[in-house]
Amino acid sequence: MNWDRCKNLYDEACRWIPGGVNSPVRSGRAVGMSPIFVREASGCTIVDEDGNRYIDYVGSWGPMIVGHSHPKVVEALRDAAARGTSYGIPTEAEIRMARKVAELVPSIEMVRMVNSGTEATMSAIRLARGYTGRKKIVKFNGCYHGHADSLLVQSGSGLATFGIPGSPGVPDEIVLHTVPAPFNDLGELQNIMGRIGEEVAAIIVEPVPANMGVVLPKLGYLKSLRSLCDRYGALLIFDEVITGFRLSRGGAQELFGIMPDLTTLGKIIGGGLPVGAFGGKREIMMHLSPAGNVYQAGTLSGNPLAMSAGLATLGILEERGVYEELEEKAAYLAKGMADAAARAGVAVAWNRIGSMGSGFFSAEPVFDFASALKSDTGAYAVFFREMLARGVYFAPSQFEAFFVGLAHRKEDLDRTIDAASEAFVLAKESSARGA
Ligand SMILES: *Cc1c(COP(=O)(O)O)cnc(C)c1O
Repeated sequence: MNWDRCKNLYDEACRWIPGGVNSPVRSGRAVGMSPIFVREASGCTIVDEDGNRYIDYVGSWGPMIVGHSHPKVVEALRDAAARGTSYGIPTEAEIRMARKVAELVPSIEMVRMVNSGTEATMSAIRLARGYTGRKKIVKFNGCYHGHADSLLVQSGSGLATFGIPGSPGVPDEIVLHTVPAPFNDLGELQNIMGRIGEEVAAIIVEPVPANMGVVLPKLGYLKSLRSLCDRYGALLIFDEVITGFRLSRGGAQELFGIMPDLTTLGKIIGGGLPVGAFGGKREIMMHLSPAGNVYQAGTLSGNPLAMSAGLATLGILEERGVYEELEEKAAYLAKGMADAAARAGVAVAWNRIGSMGSGFFSAEPVFDFASALKSDTGAYAVFFREMLARGVYFAPSQFEAFFVGLAHRKEDLDRTIDAASEAFVLAKESSARGA
């Protein structure tokens, strides 16, 4: 595969954009190469600027669950764009979106649209603090909730990828109120809440973490979070920016039957446009300005383009059998890849739920951030590059998820498994050489 033009574009990008990318995880640094540059995408296929084609398992990091440039989404966008892209004045589409979200997500009665997942979690935290009159937030190591100051503590995603514990530019005084805890360790959380529970405004959690790679909650763990919050009068915030509309129409909360107080959404709800949302019980949401005093605002929030792409995507996800199809395809892929790894004699810990999952290059089970970090990232880097060379695009980091979408066909999954059979052998050889 030839990447001449992509490499030139990267050199040029690095002159004008820090690190050549507008979000760190896109950089190929963790897998020892420069990023590809995309020219176009359709269905599950992306085409780079050298004309190379790849089966895509990143899907813009989650949003493209119905596939790239889905005709219904493109048509909705074209239609909306022709009528103006933003007014800063209310539109009916915003009501349609809010009603749809309240209909689909069990715990949401009212919702506010924002422009990214980061904004959603930042605003939900402010609301939780304003509502409870408390300062402290409990978050879990390896969970990522966007890049707002107070949440950049022991975070997953790019910080895990590049081994950054926190970030310069975030004053200690600001994260003083953020208390990190290990995921899946109920005893430790009980200790923390025993000490400071009365000061905690909210526990924020990815109900199924996907930003340290995919990690599954232990049986009963989410339920225990709910009871701990009730016991200490803290709010439970589910960050469903990834899991919302992915694990089921109503997200992880529907799948596990746990009702959080607040939910943050993003990614799929924007259908590929920059969107986020947060919602919850009416009684809490009514504290938001202008109904209440907790301030939150956005010039482009609820703009017609984002609403139309999001509504079109949610409309497709409401069709019958969609989640069964996603489950079947992802299970087929994960089994094929696991068999290929086993044949190659590579130890891989597989975590999958519905249409998302991760294969950690580790001989031990992965159930929290510490166990995820034991993975052989060097072997993953070889795997990534060998898959790329065979026309398959996985995330350029061990600590991210793969996403299967409706556009993946059986032949795409089979081609992926064939490629993986070769890539696992090469990853094994290189890690044996200590490369
Ligand atoms: C992606 C993500 C965010 C941040 O969303 P952005 O749109 O990138 O700001 C927050 N929480 C979770 C769980 C995410 O996966």
